[in-house]
Amino acid sequence: MTDFMMDFADDRVLPFTVEALDIRGRAVRLGPMIDEILGRHAYPDAVSELLGQATTLAVLLGSALKFEGRFQIQARADGPVDMLVVDFEAPDRVRGYARFDATRLVDGMTPAEVLGRGQLGLTIDQGNDISRYQGIVALDGQGLEEAAQQYFRQSEQIPTRVRLAVGRVVQTDGAGDLRPVWRAGGVMAQFMPTSPERQRSADLHPGDAPEGATILQFGDDDAWTEARLLIETVEDHELIDPTLTSEALLYRLFHESGVVVFDAEAITAQCRCSRDRIVSMIKGFPPNERREMVADDGMIGVTCEFCSTRYEVLPDDVDLQDEDGR
Ligand SMILES: [Zn+2]
Repeated sequence: MTDFMMDFADDRVLPFTVEALDIRGRAVRLGPMIDEILGRHAYPDAVSELLGQATTLAVLLGSALKFEGRFQIQARADGPVDMLVVDFEAPDRVRGYARFDATRLVDGMTPAEVLGRGQLGLTIDQGNDISRYQGIVALDGQGLEEAAQQYFRQSEQIPTRVRLAVGRVVQTDGAGDLRPVWRAGGVMAQFMPTSPERQRSADLHPGDAPEGATILQFGDDDAWTEARLLIETVEDHELIDPTLTSEALLYRLFHESGVVVFDAEAITAQCRCSRDRIVSMIKGFPPNERREMVADDGMIGVTCEFCSTRYEVLPDDVDLQDEDGR
């Protein structure tokens, strides 16, 4: 495989269906884009892994929504990471950060342990109050994969399986140097039956079934059981392997039933911060507070929490004087 094709396979979401199993899904592989997000923050590894998982999940879910606006994942929990936010701005921009207490991080912690217990909020914001929607799922130490599955089971009644993986592999960077770069990948499958038989087993209680008869539940459907088990076989290294495309992974999983893929959608790491926004944010403070922001080097330094970009603003740019010149 050429480098061109490998680059082409990264930072993209690939929607797919397996009609024979009534499965719809998405596969994603994040290369340079996730390395930029996690590399800029340079958090401890366990925090980077958790933020990488949340970013992958936000891409899987956000890119499926056909709307203008923002999809946000926000977690508030009692682990070393007490807050985590990832924004997916349609159609393709992602940013995210985590807030953590480094003294509580212990070597070998899993992403689920780093997060702990709390709440995971999934918010769709189309830019006005009317079309804002938030779903909440309890975090109980189960981690983001399981929490996402619970969300779809409870809120949408859609059987869902999600796999997420984050890790570093040694690759050449843009300058040709070999270094460990962050990669992430994920795959999500949802059971959305279209045939009358499967829909009946899913939606209707068999009211006149004889006493003791087995009542078929949503999750018991043979097609869904097969798809679920296949998704659960996906290993972390397959999701972050730079030489394995989403197409190759989906073929490995579903070739027996037949899998159809649609046009891939590109994803970029891009924050909304800018020097202009930072300057107008500083100007929002009263002059005496602006003066207190000036550091010993004579500059006002502001770091965007979403992307860890550091802005240095000259006091002259933000007007330190009161109206009466004090
Ligand atoms: Zn930023």
